[in-house]
Amino acid sequence: MRLSLARVKQSEGNVLDFRFEEDIKQIRVKRDDLNFAGPVVVEGQVENIGDRILEVRGSIKTCVEDYCYRCLTKTQVELNVSFCLKFSDIPIESDEEEIILFSGDEIELRPYILNEIVLNWPGQILCKPDCRGICPRCGANLNTTECDCKDEEIDPRLSVLKQLLKGD
Ligand SMILES: [Zn+2]
Ligand SMILES: [Zn+2]
Repeated sequence: MRLSLARVKQSEGNVLDFRFEEDIKQIRVKRDDLNFAGPVVVEGQVENIGDRILEVRGSIKTCVEDYCYRCLTKTQVELNVSFCLKFSDIPIESDEEEIILFSGDEIELRPYILNEIVLNWPGQILCKPDCRGICPRCGANLNTTECDCKDEEIDPRLSVLKQLLKGD
């Protein structure tokens, strides 16, 4: 995911379009493996916005795989992330935004793209909107099985207790 910037750097207003597609199977963050189910496609443009700042903006599209948080079935979801990064080849202090220092005529975007993906990784995914989850008693996947624990859930002693609490 290398951007060649020799021409863009030359003058303000110069723009370069880019598109990268890369198969990334897995990235490791701390102790977690993050799995992909499709290629990572990055599209965007880099623009020289003056003051020796290059603005790289675009979108990341991919398909990721994680476990449904209710039933723990492996589930694939699409991930769409917009990003905007600013780079300069001279150190620029700014309270409002981060301006990343680079040198030479190239920027390797890959670590920044991976970082955006990690930051936007879906927190809780569902295999389907009405996933019924797993039975907390027997562990059966309630999307595919009916278990016999249901009767116990309506415990008559509990309903008496509930009524007592209501009257409090
Ligand atoms: Zn599920
Ligand atoms: Zn059960």
